[in-house]
Amino acid sequence: MGLTDFLSDLLAGTDSQAPVSSLSAGDGSAVIVYECRHCGTTVGPETACCPSCQSENIVEYAIE
Ligand SMILES: [Zn+2]
Repeated sequence: MGLTDFLSDLLAGTDSQAPVSSLSAGDGSAVIVYECRHCGTTVGPETACCPSCQSENIVEYAIE
């Protein structure tokens, strides 16, 4: 595949998806990731204590 093919694929995908994703980004549909600040283990939203290192330092990240 040439660079031109790749770019037109990319542009075609962006063209059809951009309006939807820019709308949904402001719609509260961001994914929230919970992660132990101490060791970096990803934990669930209900997790108050890291299963890996028992730290209670859980942080939230919103990923759009
Ligand atoms: Zn941890």
